[in-house]
Amino acid sequence: EAIITLDHVVKEFHKRGGSGRQSGTSRAVDDVSLRVDRGDIFGIIGYSGAGKSTLVRMINALERPTSGTVSVLGTDITALGESKLRPIRQKIGMIFQQFNLFSTKTVSQNIAYPLQLDHWRKDYQERRVAELLDFVGLRDHADNYPSQLSGGQKQRVGIARALATNPQILLADEATSALDPETTDEVLALLKRVNEQFGITIVLITHQMSVVQNIANRVAVMSQGRVVEQGDVYDVFAAP
Ligand code: ADP
Ligand code: ADP
Repeated sequence: EAIITLDHVVKEFHKRGGSGRQSGTSRAVDDVSLRVDRGDIFGIIGYSGAGKSTLVRMINALERPTSGTVSVLGTDITALGESKLRPIRQKIGMIFQQFNLFSTKTVSQNIAYPLQLDHWRKDYQERRVAELLDFVGLRDHADNYPSQLSGGQKQRVGIARALATNPQILLADEATSALDPETTDEVLALLKRVNEQFGITIVLITHQMSVVQNIANRVAVMSQGRVVEQGDVYDVFAAP
């Protein structure tokens, strides 16, 4: 069952000359069609500038395609207005390379933030945060600030915050790129548990082949805005 479908998606940006004058357009994403099935850990791999972030930003409608269509959870979101996007965005969690935690909030407050935005009752928020702290193994750090945490711990907070509202899809943008190899393995193991225990579909952008080989079941290889290969990880990376 398809949970995300991109059909001939193109995204062009206006190029700017040195003087600030417009000098044509460049294609960040060039005629990409792909399909992510429910339950996948779908890797999108490619060098810096290949168009991976732009692609993922179109999945939660932070960017709109120049042409083509994007469907998420059975809805064509290509031209959907902000109010109709809200319930879909609530089903999508996101984690980042630089974690994007609020430095003036504690671990618990960071995790509770999306619940607060959705006006959940205080007692539910507390219960949900406690559950998530246990899941990511940070109960003892509930009252710490991000600056008091290691990189791996920060990303575990990021994951807990992304899960707070029970999303069906988790988008991970270079989520392990700021971490050392050992911590990367820990975070990938946690993402695998997110996928297996909660059935959450994960779309994972990375420039690291090892990350895709470690946890993804399907992969799209991007180069210069195009998907040049797509399929089961085993087939795509199998020796010829
Ligand atoms: P990746 O995530 O694979 O590193 P990006 O999607 O960030 O690639 O970028 C793809 C291309 O699109 C790059 O050439 C980048 O400079 C360009 N690009 C991305 N975002 C913008 C933007 N907001 N305005 C202009 N160009 C952009
Ligand atoms: P700014 O707009 O100055 O970047 P924000 O307060 O909007 O600061 O957000 C700080 C960071 O936290 C941002 O990078 C944003 O992506 C992230 N963020 C904000 N709200 C949420 C949320 N509900 N769930 C997950 N991340 C969030």
